[in-house]
Amino acid sequence: MATPLPQILSNLHNAADAAGRPPPRLLAVSKTQPAEAVAALAAQGQTAFGENYVQEALAKMQELQRLGLEWHLIGHLQSNKAEPVAMHFDWVQSVDRPKLVTALARYRPAERGPLNVLIQVNIDDESSKHGCVPEDVEALAAAILAEPNLRLRGLMAIPAPWPEAERRRDAFVRMRTLFEALAARHPQVDTLSMGMSSDYAEAIAEGATLVRIGTALFGARPRPA
Ligand SMILES: *Cc1c(COP(=O)(O)O)cnc(C)c1O
Repeated sequence: MATPLPQILSNLHNAADAAGRPPPRLLAVSKTQPAEAVAALAAQGQTAFGENYVQEALAKMQELQRLGLEWHLIGHLQSNKAEPVAMHFDWVQSVDRPKLVTALARYRPAERGPLNVLIQVNIDDESSKHGCVPEDVEALAAAILAEPNLRLRGLMAIPAPWPEAERRRDAFVRMRTLFEALAARHPQVDTLSMGMSSDYAEAIAEGATLVRIGTALFGARPRPA
């Protein structure tokens, strides 16, 4: 079941209030959703959308160009697709290796301004997930900072869906610790992207500044992703 946008926004506010934190940004995750569903949310004031698949995203961007939306790539990115991504996206949240940093920087057109990037961290060290290990964050940050076409904004994680609330919380806390250390060294770092439909309130309680919500906003995806 889709939850209306004002209800989701109010949930984000309440979770942030309860934690004594500023409300996070909402990224509407529109993967596998048709362009009309994106346009419907945009008409209600939502501006930032997250996509996982490059070809699908490029088609929607083209169709919705006149709306001036902000597009985030949140799915795994192969270096051979870096060119269209660097040209058309506003943010890439899934940067996890030096080769991708170089490729995105090479193809970012100067007239578009720096591409905003987040370093994806494999915080629960799952073999099935992409992302760098926490120990590699600083080296990757240095590589990004060396590229004038890229702007390091922070960190992203997809923690394991542990059944135990305590383990979920622990992953979010470890992400916040990494984020605060990075932000202390690099003042332009302002974004901690964590929390999805099932766990966004917990992520906000532990310091998420951006949550990525798909199912709760749009309802179940039309095809599995
Ligand atoms: C699909 C996806 C989401 C949204 O997940 P929901 O459970 O539908 O809210 C968030 N982040 C990433 C990286 C995703 O791939």
